Amino acid sequence: MARRRIIAGNWKMNKTPSEAVALVAELKDLVKNDDVDVVYCVPAIDIVPVAEAVKGTNVHVGAENFYIVDNGAFTGEISAPMLKDAGVEYVIIGHSERRDIFGENDILINQKVKKAFASGLTPILCCGESLALRKADTYKEWIERQITWDLDGVTADQVKKLVIAYEPIWAIGTGETATADQAEEVCGLIRKLIAKLYDQATADEVRIQYGGSMNAGNAAELLSKENIDGGLIGGASLKPDFGKIVNA
Ligand code: PEP
Repeated sequence: MARRRIIAGNWKMNKTPSEAVALVAELKDLVKNDDVDVVYCVPAIDIVPVAEAVKGTNVHVGAENFYIVDNGAFTGEISAPMLKDAGVEYVIIGHSERRDIFGENDILINQKVKKAFASGLTPILCCGESLALRKADTYKEWIERQITWDLDGVTADQVKKLVIAYEPIWAIGTGETATADQAEEVCGLIRKLIAKLYDQATADEVRIQYGGSMNAGNAAELLSKENIDGGLIGGASLKPDFGKIVNA
């Protein structure tokens, strides 16, 4: 089954609002491709200016985080209705930096996935193992457990719209990429798990990205794999290289 490719940039905590607008302008012609969903997941303060700057282009706007309540006494947080109103379509959930630095667990991540869908946002749900789990050869069980917990109570129709990003932690921001075969092994495993938890039709539709030091040099090989439908890109999303990944 042909799934539409999705290449998303995760800008992390980079770019002031004016720098963000300048980056959108720099990448504008480089990321043109009608066959690919292109998403910029940007810091909260950049969402409004980036949404304005990408109007009329093929780029969609994503957020990097949100909280599960619509409004109220949650100092420092941003809600799904706020994101929607600002033009956001996608939201990264469960990135390893949020899990490891900010202590987000699978209970909260599961609540975020359900809240995102209920609010009309498409989650980009991240999973992935540490180097220790990779070395101990327990990474498959770990990822299966993460996905099973994170999708508890999520319906098949929702999962058909979901984007899952397999991001081995040892490959994020390290310059070390999983080989295309290592990435394909886990992305294939995730698809099989979705077939087991739901059904084959759902597994055929869910889009699975690889993320972890993807760049202009390695994107084509990773993206040629059967179960890799796109990429979640950190460092390289801030450079003209991102256009080469979109068009790899
Ligand atoms: C990420 O943080 O999602 C990521 C994949 O980062 P990088 O591409 O820099 O490894």
